[in-house]
Amino acid sequence: MKTYTSASDHVQLHDLLFVTLLSEDQVQERVREIGAEITQAYRNKKPLFISILSGAFVFAADLIRAFGGDCEIGFVKLASYSGTRSSGDVQTVMGLEKDLQGRHLIVVEDIVDTGRTLHFFLDHLRSRQPASICTVTFLRKPDAAEFPVPIDYVGFDIEDRFVVGYGLDYDGLGRNLPGIYQRSK
Ligand code: 5GP
Repeated sequence: MKTYTSASDHVQLHDLLFVTLLSEDQVQERVREIGAEITQAYRNKKPLFISILSGAFVFAADLIRAFGGDCEIGFVKLASYSGTRSSGDVQTVMGLEKDLQGRHLIVVEDIVDTGRTLHFFLDHLRSRQPASICTVTFLRKPDAAEFPVPIDYVGFDIEDRFVVGYGLDYDGLGRNLPGIYQRSK
């Protein structure tokens, strides 16, 4: 049996080796800090957290428990398929049945890479007339940015290399790792 612990400094997933970038303690401390900041900002507002599946489910679960007020949570799956338009992939939003009109929304992402996913999703949300929208991502790769997306809360800015753990996978594996691991050079 393979045992993952936060003390391990590397992990093998399929054919790739990953090394520790952020320990479980660093991850948890940062989540508590962001939770406290959002608690202050959303006093008496009963926000609706919206977690983008699949990767953000672990961060979202910790974040709402670090949030100290009334809140709700919903989950969305963004599916892309090749469209006939020249713009390439077209995305659809699945699972967001709630009435968003007049709600204070907090969009929760695992990682913002090019910004494409969030850029598209924010456009969709704006059309549903919420009272406000804010964005929180656990990780961001500033050097990979291609689409302009406003991010209100960022856990960590990281270099443009593939990472796993804390909800993020490599071909299905690694989501259960409590820290963040970066692909070894
Ligand atoms: P974007 O649309 O910003 O280019 O990419 C966002 C999505 O790409 C993330 O939600 C995540 O699913 C995936 N992604 C981007 N970078 C990484 C990475 O380093 N590791 C993993 N596991 N997924 C990533």
